[in-house]
Formats: sequence, C-alpha cells, structure tokens
Amino acid sequence: MPSEQIFDNTEIAFFLKSDSELERAYFLFKMISIEPLVRIGTAATNFALKAHLPIEGLIRASVFDHFCGGVNEEDCLPVIDKMFGKGVSSVLDYSVEGKEDEQDFDKSVKTVLNIIDFAKEIKAIPFAVFKPTGLGRFFLYEKISKGDALTETEKIEWEKVENRFDTICKKAQEANIAVLVDAEESWIQDAADMLVTKMMRKYNKNRAFVYNTLQMYRHDRFNFLKEQHKEAVEGGFVLGYKLVRGAYMEKENDRANEKKYTTPICNSKAATDANFNSALEYVVDNLENISLFAGTHNEQSSYLLMDLMHTKRLSNNDSRVWFGQLYGMSDHISFNLAAKGYNVAKYIPFGPVKDVMPYLIRRAEENTSVAGQTGRELMLLSKEKKRRKV
Ligand SMILES: Cc1cc2nc3c(=O)[nH]c(=O)nc-3n(C[C@H](O)[C@H](O)[C@H](O)COP(=O)(O)OP(=O)(O)OC[C@H]3O[C@@H](n4cnc5c(N)ncnc54)[C@H](O)[C@@H]3O)c2cc1C
Repeated sequence: MPSEQIFDNTEIAFFLKSDSELERAYFLFKMISIEPLVRIGTAATNFALKAHLPIEGLIRASVFDHFCGGVNEEDCLPVIDKMFGKGVSSVLDYSVEGKEDEQDFDKSVKTVLNIIDFAKEIKAIPFAVFKPTGLGRFFLYEKISKGDALTETEKIEWEKVENRFDTICKKAQEANIAVLVDAEESWIQDAADMLVTKMMRKYNKNRAFVYNTLQMYRHDRFNFLKEQHKEAVEGGFVLGYKLVRGAYMEKENDRANEKKYTTPICNSKAATDANFNSALEYVVDNLENISLFAGTHNEQSSYLLMDLMHTKRLSNNDSRVWFGQLYGMSDHISFNLAAKGYNVAKYIPFGPVKDVMPYLIRRAEENTSVAGQTGRELMLLSKEKKRRKV
C-alpha cells in the first residue's frame, strides 16, 4: 500500500538496538536538542582537541559511536552485517574533512578504492562515496567556480584532481559498484559539477555508475537538473542523482550576507521542501534517463517517493531508486522501508575521531536547528523504551 503510515513501527525501527544503546540514543538526542549546549560543547571540543586534551574517549563513548561506524573500515563490519541482515545496505563514508595536501588526497583515493574492492565481494555495499574536497584543494575548486584562470602549476594540480575522480569512477564501473559524489559549499560546486558531469558522460553509458548530488535548498537546482537532463539525453548518457536538501545553510546565508550577494538558499523551509519534492517527481517521471538516491530523513518526502513509485507501478526494489539515511539517524525510516522491500542504504561515516569532528558537528547542529526532527527521533525512542518497558 502506498501511503500506509509505516514509519511509526518502532519495533522494526530499533530492532538492532540493545536496551542500553536505546538509552544512549535517547540521552544523546535529548542533549543535542539543547542549542546552547551544542554551541558551548562544540567550542569546548574544538578547543580541547587543538590543545591535545585527552577527550577522545569521551567523544567516542557519546556522539562518535552513535553517528560513526568506527575509526577504520574493519570497525564498521559488524554494523554492516547486522544492518544487511535487516535488508539495509551500507555506504562506507571516509569522513575525514578539511585536508589540504596532495598526500591526503591520494590517501582518500586509496581508501575509496579499497572500499570498492571490498564492496565487490559483498552485496551489502552497493555504493562508494567521496567528497570533491577529499580529492583536491578547496581553493582550486573555488577559483575554477569563479571562472578565474589557473596558473600553470594550478593547471597541473587540477589535472591530478581530475585523474583522481577518473581513477575512482573507472574502478567503480569495473567493479559494478556505483559511486556517489557529495555536494558541499555552493561557491565550489560549479567546478565539482563540471568534473562529475564529465564522469557521468564517460561511465554512465547504460546505467548510472556515477551519481552527483543536488542540494535542493538551492533555488537554482531544479533548473540545473532539467538542463542536465537535456544534456544527458542529447549526449546519450544516463544521470545519477542523489537528492538532498543541503547541510550548509547557515554557512551559505552568512557568506551571502557578509559578501552582499543574494543567497542561493530558498527563502523558507517550505520552499526547500517544495523544491525537493518537485525534483523527486521530475526524476521519477524520467527514470529511463535518471537514477535516484533520495538522501533524506524527511518522512513526507519519503512517503511521497513511495507514492510516486506506486503510481508508476514500479516494484519497491526497482534498481533505479534508492532511499538513503545517515547512520545514527532516522532508523524508523530506513528499517521500515527495508522491511517493505525498498532499496535502502545508510551512510556509515568512519575515520579518526579528530578528523570526523566537522561531520559530527554538522549532525549536532542539524539536530538542534531542525527542532521537528529531533522531537520526532526522541518521541520514537521513548515509544520504543515504553514498548520494551526499559
Ligand atoms: C544519505 C544522505 C546523504 C547526504 N549527503 C549530503 C551531501 O552530499 N551534501 C549535503 O549538503 N548534505 C547531504 N546530506 C544532508 C542533507 O542535505 C540534510 O542536511 C539532512 O538530510 C536534513 O534534511 P532532510 O531532507 O533529512 O529533511 P528535513 O529535516 O525536513 O530538512 C532539514 C533541511 O531543510 C533545509 N532548511 C531548513 N530550514 C530552512 C529554511 N529556513 N530555509 C530553507 N531551507 C531550510 C536545510 O537544508 C535543512 O538541512 C545528506 C543526507 C543524507 C541522509
């Protein structure tokens, strides 16, 4: 049934959580729902890490273990196995951010290649993932996005970035694994889009191996999607798109304010929601050319996508449609969808505690600022605690 309200089933949602994990999750969401606590906690943690104070253990026992699979790929194996037992796939996300030198970029490539090697052996990992700034300097993406000319040295550096993209996409295609390219700040996105489109043209001949990301909090992205669609039809290739709302809203608005340009962000949450849902409809209408990975914790959008699939008489496990959530969040969506046979994958971030802090801070801020979502998460955890009489 399409609009059946499946996400309220907390038994299915939290089946994999022990009583103590359930308690920890409840406590954690309660803490990060308090905005001043997150603000002060973030500043204190950043300071403590910079000052080399021994707080890694504390971070691990709290936010890290809830939102991350571990410090390396092997740590994530038990989680991958357990989730796959309930029909939920994994996307291993090497979430180290803010690196700026060539060695780190090569290390990111090596890590993603290892994950692809590993993924081709087991069905539980249908996607690899990387961030554009994991493979090249932020400054370079920014310069190209602005349309500024590169120096000769920068041209060589950019060629290396392009080669890194190509190495990963080629390997993914050979291994029959798709690869998701995350989206970041809007002022570096044009350069990233250019590269990813090039990869799609090269590797997405018959099916989508390479997926770009559209942040639908940007009011220009729906038109961009239509332009890309036209380009793909004319160029004889298939598009892969991860649709998300976008995780850098405050940073985007602050920069636009400071530099006095019109913000690229929709002017309200409702406008972002409408933009996201229109993109879902557009993609489902054009699945012969566009494959979809809907990265969202929003229940309405998830129900909408189920309805759209039902209207089009697609099977729940149509290989062109995936639902995606982040590890540690919205298990009620992931596990209930999987129980109904939909394709679902959760990002499992991993990496050294210190290096995944930007990721963790984004999650804490997101769960603070989007009050509705945290409230929902707490309500469901509390309902399950009562059901289990914890
Ligand atoms: C699998 C997966 C992959 C992801 N990959 C990326 C990625 O590559 N890049 C990226 O940027 N993010 C990524 N995200 C995060 C995502 O962009 C969202 O921040 C997060 O999922 C919350 O949005 P939501 O759709 O779950 O729904 P909701 O919780 O309903 O929406 C919250 C979002 O709405 C938007 N919003 C909130 N208030 C306003 C407002 N006043 N005006 C306009 N818009 C507003 C913001 O985007 C906010 O994050 C990913 C998320 C998932 C689940």
